[in-house]
Amino acid sequence: MGQENLTAQKRSSGGGLPTTTATNGRGRSFAGLPRGRQIHKTFNNIKITILCGFVTILVLRGTIGVGNLGSSEADAVNQNLIEETNRILAEIRSDTDPTDPDEPPETEFNPNITFTLGPKITDWDQDRKAWLEQNPGFPNFVRGKARILLVTGSPPKPCDNPIGDHYLLKVIKNKIDYCRLHGIEIVYNLAHLDKELAGYWAKLPLMRKLMLSHPEVEWIWWMDSDALFTDMVFEIPLSKYDKSNLVIHGYPDLLFEQKSWVALNTGSFLIRNCQWSLDLLDTWAPMGPKGTTRENAGKILTANLKGRPAFEADDQSALIYLLLSQKNQWMDKVFVENSYYLHGYWAGLVDRYEEMIEKYHPGLGDERWPFVTHFVGCKPCGSYGDYPVERCLSSMERAFNFADNQVLKLYGFRHRGLLSPKIKRIRNETVTPLEFVDQFDIRKHPVSSSGSQS
Ligand code: UDP
Ligand code: MN
Repeated sequence: MGQENLTAQKRSSGGGLPTTTATNGRGRSFAGLPRGRQIHKTFNNIKITILCGFVTILVLRGTIGVGNLGSSEADAVNQNLIEETNRILAEIRSDTDPTDPDEPPETEFNPNITFTLGPKITDWDQDRKAWLEQNPGFPNFVRGKARILLVTGSPPKPCDNPIGDHYLLKVIKNKIDYCRLHGIEIVYNLAHLDKELAGYWAKLPLMRKLMLSHPEVEWIWWMDSDALFTDMVFEIPLSKYDKSNLVIHGYPDLLFEQKSWVALNTGSFLIRNCQWSLDLLDTWAPMGPKGTTRENAGKILTANLKGRPAFEADDQSALIYLLLSQKNQWMDKVFVENSYYLHGYWAGLVDRYEEMIEKYHPGLGDERWPFVTHFVGCKPCGSYGDYPVERCLSSMERAFNFADNQVLKLYGFRHRGLLSPKIKRIRNETVTPLEFVDQFDIRKHPVSSSGSQS
């Protein structure tokens, strides 16, 4: 598989991170919100309820023609509504939570104290094995298949650009469809479990928490919010990874010979629920804490990785650096995959969908019909991407519809075009619908990893 376009696969080096600026200097535990914030949240809820009330009244007035307010009065109500909506949005976006007087002040960052993801766990494999034996109702293998949990998420606040939220919705719809069709469970996270690890580092404490809370899950599969399934039939060839604990898309020569910062991509990877993975996360995390640590670590990464622009430490570069510098310790359990697109760089793929439709079929997963299309550098939810926003949005729309057509086909429809949200019927309704169930159900026609369709 080609390595073309790899140089373009970079993360934004600008200020495009959806960072959460330090709040009021108050810490927050994962288990619950401090009282001050709870009250604040309750107020917010009440405000949103009132706002919903406003909207309902307005809609009712519009639909059933109630009331005989003059148009200027109606305009005034509309204006109020807009102002109130903007005020509430501004409040959700702002970080000015009221200070809780009971809460102890946050301790100053001390670079001498090594950052940890939590208490050091050393016996996870034995503990998990015992738990699985005691809980036969929650097996880690179901009908011979390892239990997979697909994990994704996005920043806790609305996107800078409202269209970004629409694309987050489309992309999660795409993931729900894939997971539903393939019996995979899914988690969508909007929280920063560790406020030091906001932004792209948020996946680390999240994966750890999910491993420990779901011992029945064998594989955690992280997927970015800007990565879509574009082959709804292909399945991960898990049996290939029996002896591996981390499966990640990349190229060994780019990693070990070139030390390239795009040798691996952390936008879509699988990590096994085991002690090895907990240890890896512990070793991976210390470059993540925001502020000085992340800034200084970024300098080390840029100095050591080929092609890396100067910016704070990101999770992808940190993993590459870790695997390069501690190769012997980790690599025998890392599977660097490139026989299909566990991550596929969008720019080389989205313009070829028509050609793929003409020549190939879903289930191949590679450059003929890419499994995952990842919009690296687009930042649809942030403000500063590396590509023009129109190009990103139309490409995401094409990828979404390309994938959605594969889902709609099961039900006898397809999009009018790859850029159209409208759909059309492709089969007539019938009085014997079961024949179509058998013909089109993806679950009944599993495709082997070699790509041949059964
Ligand atoms: N992410 C998250 N919470 C955040 C910021 C990011 O869960 O506050 C996730 C999100 O799924 C995103 C991924 O982390 O796709 C990588 O973050 P990055 O900022 O690199 O965004 P991307 O490059 O994917 O646009
Ligand atoms: Mn991404």
